[in-house]
Amino acid sequence: MKTYKNFETNAIRTQTERSKREHSSPMFMTSSFIFNDAEHAKALFADEVEGDIYSRFSNPTVREFEEKMSILEETEDGFATASGMAAVYASFVALLKSGDHIVSSRAIFGSTHKVFTQILTKFNITSTYVDLNDFDAWENAIQDNTKMFFCESPSNPGLELADMKKIGEIAKKNNLLFNVDNCFATPYLQRPAYYGADLITHSATKFIDGQGRVVGGVVLGKKELISEIRTFCRSTGPSLSPFNAWVLSKSLETLSVRMEKHCDNALRLAKYLELHPEVESARYPFLPSHPQYELAKKQMRLGGGLVTFIVKGGYERGKTFLNNLKMFSHTANLGDTRTIATHPASTTHAKLTEKERQAVGIEPGLIRVSVGLEHIEDIIADIEQALDKSK
Ligand SMILES: *Cc1c(COP(=O)(O)O)cnc(C)c1O
Repeated sequence: MKTYKNFETNAIRTQTERSKREHSSPMFMTSSFIFNDAEHAKALFADEVEGDIYSRFSNPTVREFEEKMSILEETEDGFATASGMAAVYASFVALLKSGDHIVSSRAIFGSTHKVFTQILTKFNITSTYVDLNDFDAWENAIQDNTKMFFCESPSNPGLELADMKKIGEIAKKNNLLFNVDNCFATPYLQRPAYYGADLITHSATKFIDGQGRVVGGVVLGKKELISEIRTFCRSTGPSLSPFNAWVLSKSLETLSVRMEKHCDNALRLAKYLELHPEVESARYPFLPSHPQYELAKKQMRLGGGLVTFIVKGGYERGKTFLNNLKMFSHTANLGDTRTIATHPASTTHAKLTEKERQAVGIEPGLIRVSVGLEHIEDIIADIEQALDKSK
C-alpha cells in the first residue's frame, strides 16, 4: 500500500491496489475464491504464491481494513476479528501456553476481566492485577513464568491513564510482551507502538466505526506476532465479515474529524460539569484538575470522547438522573455519534462489591458520558434539565 506523511491522508487515501474504475473501495462479498487451475490451487495451499482461498483465512476487503489500521497505528501488520473481544482473546491464546502468566492493570473492560478469571484459568494461564500506575507493583508481580503485560488507557470508567512509556520500559527490560487495548483513544489520539507496545488491540465497534452500526476488532503488531495470531484465527474462525470490514474502512476516512469533534465537545462538557453546583467532581484527561493532566498532554493528542462526573446524592440520584435524560441514549455502548450516558454502579459494575468498585474508582453517583457529535448546547441542555429534575 502506498502511504503518505499524515494520518488524515493515510486514513483516506490508502487502498489495496486492485480496483478497476470505481472510486470508493469495492466490497468482496464472497466466501471463497476460484483457482485458475490445479497447479494454482496447489501453489496457494502450499503458500508458494499469494492469494485468497477462503474468507475465513483472508479476504481483500478485510485485508484493506487490516492494512489501513496497521498504517495508522504504525505497526508492521494486523489481523481483523469479528469483535474486540475476539481480538483481545486471540492476542492471549495465540501467543501464550499453559503455565504462562500475565500481569494486567486492574481497571480493564468487564469481558477481559472474565477472560482472565474464568476462561484462561481453565488452560492454566494465570494473571495478577496491579494498580495502573504503581510501577513497583508491575515489577514485583513478575514471576518466572510471566510472558505479558496488559493494560488499557484511558481506563474505563475511571479515566485513569497508563504511563505507557514507563510500563513499556519495564516490559522490555524483563523481556515481556506489552499488550495495549487502545480502543478508548484510537490511533488518532495515541500510538502505543511508539511507547514500546508489541501488541495493540481494538474494539472497532467503538470510535473506529463510531456510528453504532457494526461489531468488529483488530490486533496489530510486529509481523511474527501477527503471523501467529493469523494462524490461530484461521483455524479457530473469529474472522471479520467483509461487509463489516468495508463499513470500518469507510469509517476510518472520517476518524480524525470525528475524534476532533468528540474531544472538543467532551472538553466543553467537562468544563461545564466541573463548575456545576449539583456535581461533586468531573473527570477528563485534558482538564487541568485531572491528576495526570501532564501525562495526558504528553501522551495523547486530545483528551478523548469520554467524560465522567459524580452527581451529588449518590446511587439513587445517579439512577434518577439517567431516568430524566431526554435526548441522551441509555445504552451500554460508547464511541458513537449519539451521546450515551451510563450509571456503572447499578449496571456494568453492579456485581462488584462496594470495595471493589472503590478500587477502580466507581463512586455510587458516578455517571459515564460518551460524548457524541450533537451540538454542545443541546448536550448541555439535556444534562442541565436532568440534573434539575433529579434534585
Ligand atoms: C467494548 C470494548 C471491548 C470489547 O469489544 P467488543 O467489540 O464489544 O467485543 C474491549 N475493550 C474495551 C476497552 C472496550 O470498550
